[in-house]
Amino acid sequence: LRPEAMPDFFDISRHFTPEERAIQSTVRAFVDARVLPVVGDHFEKGTFPTELISEIANLGLLGCNLHGYGCAGLSEVGYGLAMQELERGDSGIRSFASVQGSLVMYPIHAYGSEAQKERYLPKMAKGEIIGCFGLTEPDHGSNPSGMRTTAIDDGDSWVLNGTKRWITNGNLAQVALVWAKVGGQDGEVRGFLVPTETKGFEAQLIHKKMSLRASVTSELILEDVRIPKDAILPGVKGMKGPLSCLTSARFGIAWGVIGAMRACFDSALDYAKHRVQFSGKPIAAHQLVQAKFAEMLTQITSSQLMALEVARLKEEKKLRPQHVSMIKRNNVRAALEIARTCRDILGGNGITLEYPVMRHLCNLETVYTYEGTHDIHTLILGQDVTGIAAYD
Ligand code: FAD
Repeated sequence: LRPEAMPDFFDISRHFTPEERAIQSTVRAFVDARVLPVVGDHFEKGTFPTELISEIANLGLLGCNLHGYGCAGLSEVGYGLAMQELERGDSGIRSFASVQGSLVMYPIHAYGSEAQKERYLPKMAKGEIIGCFGLTEPDHGSNPSGMRTTAIDDGDSWVLNGTKRWITNGNLAQVALVWAKVGGQDGEVRGFLVPTETKGFEAQLIHKKMSLRASVTSELILEDVRIPKDAILPGVKGMKGPLSCLTSARFGIAWGVIGAMRACFDSALDYAKHRVQFSGKPIAAHQLVQAKFAEMLTQITSSQLMALEVARLKEEKKLRPQHVSMIKRNNVRAALEIARTCRDILGGNGITLEYPVMRHLCNLETVYTYEGTHDIHTLILGQDVTGIAAYD
């Protein structure tokens, strides 16, 4: 591994298995060769590099911590490292893989019928079917249980009506996992696998984003969308369904953003060693600049340790959603602060796409908000400590 590409101050990679190290170096080489040369242009144009989907699939990265049905069956650390390396490229690329693996394949794997698993999972692992996850609505983000989308039992079929907003992969997807209330606004939340070619289903691209530009984000409009009775996920009822998917995806995010931190750190360190001001010394020789690197290294190291410990809890089946809230909240905030500090170290050059830092900084604004905002995770932890819910 290139040492400059990985501040690993405590040498935590000594805890990784040979397979986990192999995944890390394979995905790192892929990102160096295939993602970094093109992602800045995609970000500028506001496009997603669809040409990379089959390559990401061939590396086994889609649903990679799931077992069977053509999935790679990696450990949780292996999954985390894969997400970390993808996000060293761009949060949009990691988001694509997170949604496909944790938000669509995982619920099919955990709660789907045998027929649903066989129909979707092998093709999703190969990238031949792309999925999206429709939970958020225009008026219900942090409080998705207030959703208005409904699924009415019409005898032979379900009829879905509603609008979902901010849906990653929406215009790429062949299948949308739509969360809806059965029978009406007071009904129980259930998951429905909706082929996106179904009459009445429309995905509209969301334009003018300044963040996650190399990612497809859409609004989904469902107007009398009629799907077969067996399109419901049979194995889960209520908000536990979408929330358990989010726990899985947030775990990947907490690992992923370490990659964004590292991309910014590497870029700023290289710059600071070469940029000369005043005395003829590089800016890296100044105490104020060194203090910034000392703080960033400490934040990266604590994020790595927390992510690793939570992966162990997940492997041991001792994970609680609150553990994931802590690392999503901590690591994303650290990544955003690091990106901002690195942008500062790069001076004026830091605002351009010639360097990866501003792109990561813009992306991380989304990561701070999606999958539970920073403050919602604060409230989840506050409730865990005090036993008192402070959402209302
Ligand atoms: P709001 O819920 O309106 O929050 C606005 C502010 O109010 C935040 O600061 C929040 O912390 C604060 N707030 C809200 N409630 C409280 C409270 N009780 N106490 C204190 N503060 C509070 N969703 C999907 O379903 N699928 C996807 O694939 C997906 N991808 C996304 C991709 C992008 C690029 C973006 C931007 C979002 C995506 N989302 C997706 C939606 C995302 O999860 C929501 O944006 C997020 O949950 C926040 O909801 P909101 O935007 O409605 O903000």
